[in-house]
Amino acid sequence: DQQMSPYKTQSELSLVNREAANKAVVISAELFDLLTTAQHIAKLSDGAFDITYASIGYQYNYRDKIRPNTSLITKALPAVDYRAIDLNKAQLTVRFTHQGMKIDLGGIAKGYAVKRCLALLEKAGVKHALVSAGGDTGLLGDKHGRAWLVGIKHPRAEHKTAVHIPLENEAISTSGDYERYFIDDGVRYHHIINPETGDSARKVVSVSVIGNDPTYVDALSTTVFVKGLKEGLTLINALPEFEAIIIDNQQGLHYSQGLQP
Ligand code: AMP
Ligand code: MG
Repeated sequence: DQQMSPYKTQSELSLVNREAANKAVVISAELFDLLTTAQHIAKLSDGAFDITYASIGYQYNYRDKIRPNTSLITKALPAVDYRAIDLNKAQLTVRFTHQGMKIDLGGIAKGYAVKRCLALLEKAGVKHALVSAGGDTGLLGDKHGRAWLVGIKHPRAEHKTAVHIPLENEAISTSGDYERYFIDDGVRYHHIINPETGDSARKVVSVSVIGNDPTYVDALSTTVFVKGLKEGLTLINALPEFEAIIIDNQQGLHYSQGLQP
């Protein structure tokens, strides 16, 4: 949080957002590695996952029900482009080749934090653990000889669970449109932004991704949420290490190939 929060003006991320459009900024190896992973997923997803979404994303304030109007979106949208992030591995620097660009790691950093927590526990000799950071969960081993039973929240009924899934030694992340949102004129504005439009992604309402790497699982749940059912499943089915559970607009459940009965 100290390093990657967009709300803390002293964080490394805030420094990058202030300076990287003017000059190459030297960053820590840890932030550099996470930016590299984010860029990998941006390429893999054809820009559905794009940390520069923030160039328009910061114009939304879900608590105060504020959203950018069409002309503001049109103006900011050219600054949403992961290809304008220039990472130099030899120098450990990041540079933005576009003015007005901002990045935000909200779609990937919690998964990364879960991964680091699991590594600490493992190093301390812990054999069985569940680490949860809201919608991002990582599991070490099983629970007393049985699989952990992880619940996926019902997207429209607050205290209900939509699905239970038994898991061991894996990670699961859920992205939903019910976490941070407001409704205006019957339209739901929420925190997952389609980089193509600058508007909230509305093809599905909940996406969970399962796999070994908590960082990837976090970023991929956000990715599939943007891509929607058809394209999202195509992406996950092409990646043998990951599975997905998607809830569509009619609250229908869909599973990737590896989860089919
Ligand atoms: P998650 O709950 O993991 O899906 O993450 C949602 C968060 O990801 C949002 O609060 C934003 O910080 C960030 N985000 C929103 N849209 C995108 C996007 N298209 N690509 C990458 N990150 C995004
Ligand atoms: Mg995510």
